[in-house]
Amino acid sequence: MRWRTSGSTLYGYYFWVKLEYMKSSGKPVLKNKEKLERMAQSILEYPNTLDLDFNNTSVAFAHKTDKELKKSAWLFGLMNRHWLVGLGAKLGVTAIRLHLPFVESVVKNTIFDQFCGGTTLLDSTKTIQTLHNNGVFTILDYGAEAKETEEDFNKTMRESLRAIEFASKNVAVPVISAKITGLARFGLLESIQKGEPFNAETRSEYRSVLKRLDAICYSAEQHKVSVFFDAEESWIQIPIDHMVTLMMKRYNKKRVVVYNTFQMYRTDRLQFLIDSFNLARKEGYLLGAKLVRGAYMDKERERAENLRYPSPIHKDKAATDEAYNTGIRFCVDNYQYIGSCNASHNTESNRLQADLIVKKNIPRNHPHLNFCQLYGMSDNLTFNLAKAGFNVAKYLPYGPVREVIPYLIRRAQENSTVTGDMSREHRLVIQEMKRRGIG
Ligand SMILES: Cc1cc2nc3c(=O)[nH]c(=O)nc-3n(C[C@H](O)[C@H](O)[C@H](O)COP(=O)(O)OP(=O)(O)OC[C@H]3O[C@@H](n4cnc5c(N)ncnc54)[C@H](O)[C@@H]3O)c2cc1C
Repeated sequence: MRWRTSGSTLYGYYFWVKLEYMKSSGKPVLKNKEKLERMAQSILEYPNTLDLDFNNTSVAFAHKTDKELKKSAWLFGLMNRHWLVGLGAKLGVTAIRLHLPFVESVVKNTIFDQFCGGTTLLDSTKTIQTLHNNGVFTILDYGAEAKETEEDFNKTMRESLRAIEFASKNVAVPVISAKITGLARFGLLESIQKGEPFNAETRSEYRSVLKRLDAICYSAEQHKVSVFFDAEESWIQIPIDHMVTLMMKRYNKKRVVVYNTFQMYRTDRLQFLIDSFNLARKEGYLLGAKLVRGAYMDKERERAENLRYPSPIHKDKAATDEAYNTGIRFCVDNYQYIGSCNASHNTESNRLQADLIVKKNIPRNHPHLNFCQLYGMSDNLTFNLAKAGFNVAKYLPYGPVREVIPYLIRRAQENSTVTGDMSREHRLVIQEMKRRGIG
């Protein structure tokens, strides 16, 4: 492929120098010249100052028609009401359990459409395409929550394998996400973490879990797709870290196929990120690191108090933010060896990473530096990052309505306030409606 005409000699030289430097310092060199050219183009196309306006709602909602925007405003308005969300959660779960078809279709046409891609992979194609048309990638997330039987675990594994195959045929989907509790019994993970010895049954159960995990990672590697493994409760996280690290060792030699998740609200995770990096360097593989703040804060604190051990969570939000942003700096500083994903809706943390990339003159679309938000939320971050040329994706849950209900309830709770104040999402949608003159 040819270098771009404008500034070609200069940029050709720049990359030659960079390549020589990478080789001489033992850093991995991208084999694919096309990738180098894409990165060169990224530097050519964007200025080296940060042109990022997260308040630009015209970019944030360009993918939504007036009708869709009004529907979002109506939904976020309903979700603002804490009491209604509480009531809806109770009624919704009961009605779905009773198999009331009417409720399922109401949920499908309202909150499901706001936060999910579709009931199947095929059903999600339109959403994936719309995102991609606006420069945003998709991370497929099969919406099944924790399971308990071997049959269910195998079913979840097969669903992940199907998603990998689907992703391999769609440039808009570079990654799929998986949850170990969808592939292993919670009690088994808990017992391993407690150090309880295996018996014949649990040993065989554990082997089956490893086989499922290996099948997913092997298929991802073969199909040139990546896999994010979610982080979960701290009392089952040790075996999760152990298994995911095993998979990284096996599959991350040439590119980042497997990513572990680091919950930076935990006091020990910054050190764990550094230790994971050192281990990967020592053993010669690339670290995959998805950074999140953490979703189980109340549960973690409550359990620690009940069982009288020190809470594993930072004492306040500022301490979590500090750890998170330090983690982001660490990943950007070591981007040659860490494929990272900044999975957050926090404006400052997103701006920080974008700032660092630009200041360090790293191509904005370097495959090791990624951003991600949940589908249906923080469009102001996602679409403005995409427009500025960064790698950004939406986590897109999909699956039968009844399977994703717990996920939808969590999203509704996140967008409600006891005081009835307008949520951040609601405010942004209203701002855009006013700009369009429809609100
Ligand atoms: C793409 C994506 C993938 C995710 N995957 C996972 C996952 O695998 N595992 C997981 O656990 N979560 C996951 N999450 C959820 C994530 O952990 C956060 O709960 C959520 O994103 C809110 O954090 P924030 O950075 O977006 O925003 P913010 O609103 O800035 O942060 C809120 C978060 O800060 C922390 N916090 C709030 N108050 C305090 C306090 N008083 N003291 C200490 N800390 C506090 C909590 O973690 C809280 O969730 C994911 C989120 C995204 C966007």
